[in-house]
Amino acid sequence: MQFDQFNLDRRLLTAVEHMGFSEPTEIQHQAIPAAMAGHDLIASSKTGSGKTLAFLLPAINRLVRNRALSKKDPRVLILTPTRELAKQVFAQLKAVTASTQFKSVLILGGENFNDQVKVLDKDPHVIVATPGRLADHLAKGLFYLNGLELLILDEADRMLDLGFAEQLKQINQAADHRKRQTLMFSATLDHDQVNEFAKDLLNKPKKIAIGSMTSEHKDITQKFYLCDHLDHKQQLLEHFLQTETFQQVIIFTATRSDTERLATELNNTGINSVALSGDLKQSERNQIMESFSKGQQQVLVTTDLASRGLDLVNVSHVFNFDLPKHSEEYIHRVGRTGRAGAKGDAISFIGPKDWQSYLNIKGLLQQEIEFSQVEGLTAKFKGLKPKKKAQADSGPAKNKAVKKAKKPKAAKTKKKVIFSNEDFGDMPMIRKKKSTYNESDDFEEQD
Ligand code: ADP
Ligand code: MG
Repeated sequence: MQFDQFNLDRRLLTAVEHMGFSEPTEIQHQAIPAAMAGHDLIASSKTGSGKTLAFLLPAINRLVRNRALSKKDPRVLILTPTRELAKQVFAQLKAVTASTQFKSVLILGGENFNDQVKVLDKDPHVIVATPGRLADHLAKGLFYLNGLELLILDEADRMLDLGFAEQLKQINQAADHRKRQTLMFSATLDHDQVNEFAKDLLNKPKKIAIGSMTSEHKDITQKFYLCDHLDHKQQLLEHFLQTETFQQVIIFTATRSDTERLATELNNTGINSVALSGDLKQSERNQIMESFSKGQQQVLVTTDLASRGLDLVNVSHVFNFDLPKHSEEYIHRVGRTGRAGAKGDAISFIGPKDWQSYLNIKGLLQQEIEFSQVEGLTAKFKGLKPKKKAQADSGPAKNKAVKKAKKPKAAKTKKKVIFSNEDFGDMPMIRKKKSTYNESDDFEEQD
């Protein structure tokens, strides 16, 4: 199958040729004709499988082939959860529209509002945006979406996780007409929250799922290492960075402050590293992404800010220094390597504080997970045993890694302990109330 079998406009075929792609990927093969036929789509396929072009090509093709519904209103709106991803999608859009007359703009949180007002005033045909800022402009009546032909939600599930449901609904209502087509893409779309939301936004959507979200990513070798404490994680990390051959590396930590701390430590050991988190100014974020993507740094230490969508071709290794709280983010984080057919390694560290996340990820992946070991750096920690109450819900006690527990250290305190840390007293596992899990440490795009 070649791209020219899609009946796409010649200029788009030329653009694809310039990008150097000869054959469509599986998701492109299925999603492009379905979108060209006018269907709404809920489309999922593994990380790095070419979903961006799968929506950009039919979208721009529609602009070329159909008359605009309105002269002023934008015709295509593409939303992504992060500014970095929006920029990347915008760059691909520019390549796709290179030989057309269509004007496109990027509207991101963290950038000057008035400058954006000026560019919106020029009636762009395509907008790529983060949802918060776009909704702000919309609320101020700075443009209208009555003529919108295509609404595209990339990483739709993450936008919902980040709390953008309200903004998405406003945008949806502003573009509520019969001729609008809506496309949702992600590697992880198969859960209730998304399905519920899709009912509101999409009209008789066609579901396209290439593989399931839990099916193994054959190009990514995934390994898990038990760790006793922070220093142990650090020693393991340094061991890998010193012994493995790597191109570029992304390390995910749990919090923003950890990114800075770890990057500084690595720089002190002579490993050229940079930290990216939502704490930084947008100009700093831009500069860091630019220098990392040019290969000026070997290591990017970041949070879930960078878990979604980013296509950095030289990333050979992903480390989960801490596991993510949302188990889907595990799939996305490891998917920053092994893209477009390349091979990659994903290495995850599991300390006592990561145990619950580990169980969640294991449940999501529905796979047996074996722990690997590094000689001389073997953990004493073997897992946490659930107390009776928790045992009933999850049953992880059957896990081989869980041995007989000693009396939990934390039992002396009045706090409610659901997991006892059997071999090693790094930290008692205290169940946090839901509200104490701070999303902002993962990341958010507020505006
Ligand atoms: P996803 O959104 O599925 O994670 P992307 O759209 O970011 O994946 O694409 C991943 C990589 O694959 C990018 O570098 C992109 O340029 C490349 N790519 C896209 N389509 C093709 C194709 N048909 N053949 C080869 N590489 C492709
Ligand atoms: Mg993508």
